[in-house]
Amino acid sequence: MNKGKSIAEIHKDCVACGTCVKVCPRSALSVFKGVGVVVDREKCIGCGKCAKVCPAGVISIVGGASE
Ligand code: SF4
Ligand code: SF4
Repeated sequence: MNKGKSIAEIHKDCVACGTCVKVCPRSALSVFKGVGVVVDREKCIGCGKCAKVCPAGVISIVGGASE
């Protein structure tokens, strides 16, 4: 699914600070039960803005390379 599409992946060390949620231009991120963040795979465009601002450095942009 979503083959060839870049997408944000949140690692388990997320501290649920919510910083990434605020910068996502597609509103693809939401804090889950105060313990982590979930990515809406349909909305995420893999722009990487969330990864740049995450203070814990736990976001990677995966997939979407050269097919
Ligand atoms: S990569 Fe961009 S669109 Fe995807 S969750 Fe992060 S900020 Fe939102
Ligand atoms: S900015 Fe990083 S630590 Fe904060 S909620 Fe997002 S993924 Fe988790």
